[in-house]
Amino acid sequence: MKLSHRITHLNGGGSDGWDVFYRARRMIAEGQAVTELTIGEHDIRTHPSILAEMDRSARAGHTGYAMVPGTDLLRDTVAARVQTRTGVPTTRHNVLITPGGQAALYAAHMAACDPGDVGLYLDPFYATYPGTIRGAGAVARAVQTRAEDAFQPDAAMITEQAEGAASLLINTPNNPTGVVYSRETLTEIADLCRERNLWLISDEVYDTQIWDGAHLSPRALPGMADRTLVVGSMSKSHAMTGSRCGWIVGPEEAIEHLINLATHTTYGVPGFIQDAASYALTAGDELEEEVATPFRRRRALAMQVLARQNTVGLIPAQGAMYLMLDIRATGQSGEDFANALLDTHAIAVMPGESFGQAAAGHVRVAMTIDDDRFAAALQTLCEFAARLASQTAAE
Ligand code: PMP
Repeated sequence: MKLSHRITHLNGGGSDGWDVFYRARRMIAEGQAVTELTIGEHDIRTHPSILAEMDRSARAGHTGYAMVPGTDLLRDTVAARVQTRTGVPTTRHNVLITPGGQAALYAAHMAACDPGDVGLYLDPFYATYPGTIRGAGAVARAVQTRAEDAFQPDAAMITEQAEGAASLLINTPNNPTGVVYSRETLTEIADLCRERNLWLISDEVYDTQIWDGAHLSPRALPGMADRTLVVGSMSKSHAMTGSRCGWIVGPEEAIEHLINLATHTTYGVPGFIQDAASYALTAGDELEEEVATPFRRRRALAMQVLARQNTVGLIPAQGAMYLMLDIRATGQSGEDFANALLDTHAIAVMPGESFGQAAAGHVRVAMTIDDDRFAAALQTLCEFAARLASQTAAE
């Protein structure tokens, strides 16, 4: 039977750059010890107090269909949190609860783009972005950022690609680079969205993981609340990746239509998960600090290890659970380097090429194993890179 073009072309063809990841998983399944620094899964689990609330709520009967827009309690909780953090007036009518940030990304593009409109996104990018945009019927168009600019986007380069665009998707703190966009960058992006009449889809799922400075939500910039759809999630902030609970915050009219979309797609999020999320978001900062602290510590460890050598470069990482390492001095591509590191030292990292062309010659390291093993793995990676670089120099 013929399958739709939309579903068969989600990936856009070509290698998806995830071969190293799958190879590492196979090696582990075969019983080999592999140090895995690949995907963004925490090495801790959801806090017992959050699970206790999930259990209490389910036993109290919240196992039936929940309200499609989200429970009033969670919508109010998210609205209050966003208003406190950004100063932008926000009520439950600005909030739709979704099954995770991923569903929110898809719904936001459904709201912003008609079939054939261009959805812009920035390279390097989180792996699902182009497929999400195509899935919503739009044309996914990447705008390059540059390692030389520490992957801060350049508004002029975005403007050059903006013909036919209805939306621009950004992500700060950024996966895969760990970069946090500066106020200047975000102001320029906001200006261009207003000039070109674009929706800004702002993926802020890492907003509690900031190591330097503060998170700035572009919805708070002048004139942006009417054209920004913010994507949030419990996954990263509270180690609740499996609970599938996220949200979109945006203008009331957009949220009304998005609720209608949810009725015809996801039909909401389980009530006991939403109760657990409401509890987690109001239980004080300790819960999210407990999740963020190990990454903050490991990022400091990484800076120490990297400061002792000069082959591997570190893109200044101010947030999120990843580091982007520049291994171009080895003369290898990120993919060849990652494969060789896996074969030689059983350390798995993601090739930069998995995240687009802009991160070629880089590898992404997830800071998701315990401190000692993390520091040792980075040390080994640096020594390996130095050996490769001296071989390249001798050739
Ligand atoms: N955006 C980014 C940048 C991510 O890294 C992820 C998860 N890795 C998501 C969105 C989606 O997260 P979730 O669906 O678990 O909320």
